[in-house]
Amino acid sequence: MLKPVMDTAARTRRPKLWTPKHVLVTRSAAERPHTREVLARVEAAGVTDVTFLRSDRISGLSGGDERAVYARAKATLAVVVSPPSARKLQPIAPSADWRLDLARGCPAHCQYCYLAGSLGGPPITRVYADLDEILAGMDAYVGHGRVTSADAARAAEGTTFEASCYTDPLGIEPVTGSLAAAISHVGTHSFDGPVQLRVTTKFGAVDELLDLPHGGRTRIRASVNAEGVAGRFEGGTDPVSGRLTGLGALARAGYPVGLTIAPIMPVEGWHEQYTELLTAAADALPADADLTVECITHRFTPGSKEVLESWYPRTKLEMDPERRSRKFGKFGAVKYVYPATEMRELRAWFTDALAAQLPAARSLYWT
Ligand code: SF4
Repeated sequence: MLKPVMDTAARTRRPKLWTPKHVLVTRSAAERPHTREVLARVEAAGVTDVTFLRSDRISGLSGGDERAVYARAKATLAVVVSPPSARKLQPIAPSADWRLDLARGCPAHCQYCYLAGSLGGPPITRVYADLDEILAGMDAYVGHGRVTSADAARAAEGTTFEASCYTDPLGIEPVTGSLAAAISHVGTHSFDGPVQLRVTTKFGAVDELLDLPHGGRTRIRASVNAEGVAGRFEGGTDPVSGRLTGLGALARAGYPVGLTIAPIMPVEGWHEQYTELLTAAADALPADADLTVECITHRFTPGSKEVLESWYPRTKLEMDPERRSRKFGKFGAVKYVYPATEMRELRAWFTDALAAQLPAARSLYWT
């Protein structure tokens, strides 16, 4: 029998508040004002292993086998100054005009994590200490978007900035405070045109965000999935019910909200499982929520498969190139996606199910 999405234990569980075991502060980061905020939060969380490095090179992660390096990296927060590449914003289709990185890395353990293919080295979480400069840098990009700004159906969102490309900003918020600062900045700063900050998360601890001066300019989406995917492959995250409870609270606090249904997988019983998910979402959200939906099917690259199989050698996640179609990116890189017939079936089902179960939701894209 299928396990219900909203089981009683999950409903009453408190949201996760990540506490790293180790904190490293690089020499350049030590001088930045946001570092004080991070260190105050780290101290309040009871972290005692805080190391001030003599240079900007992150050290102390090697030693032991691959498992030991992985475990130590996932338990480590590094406070660093962002590389120049992070401050030169890039378009990020189909989500947003620009990618805005507040951090890089995530402490959770999703067995399909897309970061595995894009970030090299041990999976440490780096929070950017030069937050003020990153946020001030947004001004230069307002009015110049070419992704959502160029799409007639989405242009009303204003210039969009996606903060969840390389991290889960809410997952690390208890020890960074970066997301609250970004929401407040975007909500109160005088920009040259309309702006939307976009965040997606697999966590539910939203209390700190509810009273911020968000100005309706930050859309927070819960990244959700069928229980057969979330319960098996999303280690270290909050249960889907907790994410939806958080999303409901944000909607009631006036935030525009959304569902990122990802990665969609046709697991056994998927019709019933995704029906349960949409029912749970409809139950958690107020009827007048400003709600969008984004649908992303599961995909992998040869590189991400190799890294994920080394991190999670016993994974039951299907990553069989023989069962997939190949899709080529701009620079010839291959991605493995579901074959066209399976993709059509999934898309048709979700189109009908969303219209029936969340009729007020606006679908932004399917990929
Ligand atoms: Fe990766 Fe997101 Fe899971 Fe973090 S929460 S491990 S970023 S998929």
